[in-house]
Amino acid sequence: MALRTLDTLPSRLGRSLAGTRIVVRCDLNVPLRDGVITDDGRVRASLPTLNALINQGARVVVCSHLGRPAGAPDPQYSLEPVAQRLSELLGQPVAFARDTVGESARDAVAALADGDVAVIENLRFEAGETSKDDAVRQQFARSLAGLGDALVSDGFGVVHRKQASVYDLAELVPSVAGLLIEKEVEVLDRLTEKPERPYAVVLGGSKVSDKLGVIEHLLPRVDTLLVGGGMMFTFLAAQGHKVGKSLLEADQLDTVRGYLAQAREKGIRIVLPVDAVMAASFSADADHVVAAADALEDTPFGADGMGLDIGPRTAEQFAEAIRASTTVFWNGPMGVFEMPAFAAGTKTVAQALTEVSGLSVVGGGDSAAAVRQLGFADEAFGHISTGGGASLEFLEGKKLPGLEVLGWEQ
Ligand code: ADP
Ligand code: MG
Repeated sequence: MALRTLDTLPSRLGRSLAGTRIVVRCDLNVPLRDGVITDDGRVRASLPTLNALINQGARVVVCSHLGRPAGAPDPQYSLEPVAQRLSELLGQPVAFARDTVGESARDAVAALADGDVAVIENLRFEAGETSKDDAVRQQFARSLAGLGDALVSDGFGVVHRKQASVYDLAELVPSVAGLLIEKEVEVLDRLTEKPERPYAVVLGGSKVSDKLGVIEHLLPRVDTLLVGGGMMFTFLAAQGHKVGKSLLEADQLDTVRGYLAQAREKGIRIVLPVDAVMAASFSADADHVVAAADALEDTPFGADGMGLDIGPRTAEQFAEAIRASTTVFWNGPMGVFEMPAFAAGTKTVAQALTEVSGLSVVGGGDSAAAVRQLGFADEAFGHISTGGGASLEFLEGKKLPGLEVLGWEQ
């Protein structure tokens, strides 16, 4: 079955959306510092769906989680600054309810005119949102259902969670996916089913063990797998190289040897780094030198050296392989990009992705943060996934409760 989409909502309700109360589950979980939003990317990503509903005269009730409050009100996680930002971006007033499903929320919804928007307080101020107890979650979902006639589910970042607003509510009222979820699913599906070839996947980040599921699901589907970041050292060690004090997951060596064997058998190219930036310690101002992959301990730091980035020759090879591909998915920074001395590999790879003629996709929370921090515009890529865990689980081929409940079948 296919995802139920927003354009089908009027026919599902048997009426136009004008005057109907629509609950929209967004992912407005933005980073905040001292009450100020430091990256409003997720608020912006929610705009297409909200504008579509406003333009049809719906009465829009926006809900979201923010941070991890312990199932009770906690002022530092209030959505109020987010409601304010949303109002600026929409260019219209946005009402804010001081509770989630209480009197304030009911009043705010009752006061909505056609095309108006209200934000209710953080869903996770209510223990029912994330409860493992089905009955507790369903009870909270019934309270949410009282605020609207239908649900538009658009928080892609939470579709891998079986939570009240994501899953149970979607079963209680007519429900469809919003435009953000529709786009995410369309793009991620193209990466798993029938990608345009040649298809390259670039993986990095800190741990192989975080990415085993993705490697297993995607390896048989790709032409080229490029491995950088902290996980490259487990691959290099699996080939018999010494890696000093670099990140190494000794318990994954056999698994990684299995991937290398599988790739050889099926004619899939796994490209491993030919050089790395070795540092004296894990710090921004550490001494560092470039070393060949088969001589990582032949530096002034000897066996104490730590690999914190791919080397320049590797970065060039990766960039070439990326530019030669029609479909590219990238997850995981190539090095410790948070420290400028070790950001070059990530920057070169990001630049190459912007030059891909077909579909280029960046997935993963840190990877998305990395490209923005390095000064790339979101538009430079085909797509930047808004869901860290959700996009990885999708690419692992896992069933995501928040999508299944909207009709999607992997
Ligand atoms: P994402 O969130 O995009 O999936 P990960 O969470 O897997 O990415 O990894 C991101 C982290 O990996 C970054 O904080 C980065 O500093 C770290 N990292 C990348 N390369 C290395 C390395 N060589 N050694 C240690 N940490 C690394
Ligand atoms: Mg991460």
